[in-house]
Amino acid sequence: MSHQQIEKLRQKLDEINLQLLQIINERASVVKEIGEIKKRYGVQKFDPIREKDMLERIVQHNEGPFDDNTVRHLFKQIFKASLSLLEDDHKKALLVSRKRQSKDTVVMVGDFPVGGERNVMVAGPCSVESEEQVRQVAQTMRKLGIRLIRGGAYKPRTSPYDFQGLGEEGLKILRRVADEFGLKVVSEIVHPADIEMATQYVDVIQIGARNMQNFELLKAAGSVRKPVLLKRGLAATLEEFLFAAEYIVSRGNTQVILCERGIRTYEKWTRNTLDISAVPILKQESHLPVLVDISHSTGRRDILLPIAKAALAAGADGIMVEAHPEPSVALSDAQQQINLAQLEELLKQLRQTYDLV
Ligand code: PEP
Ligand code: MN
Repeated sequence: MSHQQIEKLRQKLDEINLQLLQIINERASVVKEIGEIKKRYGVQKFDPIREKDMLERIVQHNEGPFDDNTVRHLFKQIFKASLSLLEDDHKKALLVSRKRQSKDTVVMVGDFPVGGERNVMVAGPCSVESEEQVRQVAQTMRKLGIRLIRGGAYKPRTSPYDFQGLGEEGLKILRRVADEFGLKVVSEIVHPADIEMATQYVDVIQIGARNMQNFELLKAAGSVRKPVLLKRGLAATLEEFLFAAEYIVSRGNTQVILCERGIRTYEKWTRNTLDISAVPILKQESHLPVLVDISHSTGRRDILLPIAKAALAAGADGIMVEAHPEPSVALSDAQQQINLAQLEELLKQLRQTYDLV
């Protein structure tokens, strides 16, 4: 075979490649059109029976030289690529997606930015127990220059016999003490009907792990204009987590902070398993700020420093930590809270590397 013949055949191949390219893109456009119609009617995009029928029809017409299995394999790849094209479109459409907004969202808690240049620390007791308890924590935080105080007034407890929180009274305590020390309040709300009321007292509405898919609560949080700290569910995928955030943002409340707090696994030496990979993935997929709760993810105080460093090194915008004047007598999460001297030491260590406020 002469060199010229090969050249000619190569030219023919190049032409066929272009034809193939044109035809698979034409096919992709049709798939997208079908995807749009399915979206309008809320129909599942992937239809396995339809895919099987298409493959059988193609194989019936196969005259070689490819064998049937190879043809099946090739077309399956085309089908898969088309389907992921629809998923990409779908992801692109999410308001919380980085594809939708490339710039980082900086959530303004009053005059205090979360997700900006500086890393933030949210610290405070698991539960609000008394004004004196909150005041002691706030005093230390003020001294250390930490601005966001946390404390649960509505406690979602595993056992109904455990301390359930002080309710609205707890929120009032937080507000009074925070105002006294120039701090901002982060507190969990568990009932949709309480969201409106809570906006009088809190600066950030926390939605806890157990309520990440409480859609009515998410909708209520989306209807107010207060920052929301949304925690990842105990067994939620990152996709589900972002959809939960989308519930809030799609209602017009764009000020959402994501918080990785560990997920359920078989491991028992930590309370939950901190999914550190969630941090860079969430930062990549979404423009929302990401925090890591180092207390609930580990359930222990002896590894907080390396865990906090890992979180910040992975790109978290800040950390949450539970601190109590006297952890051993705390009414909830006694085993994981640190005392105020430990809080000071943790901050001192972290500030050697990170600018934490
Ligand atoms: C909390 O932060 O008070 C809390 C209950 O955490 P989580 O919802 O992550 O369990
Ligand atoms: Mn707790």
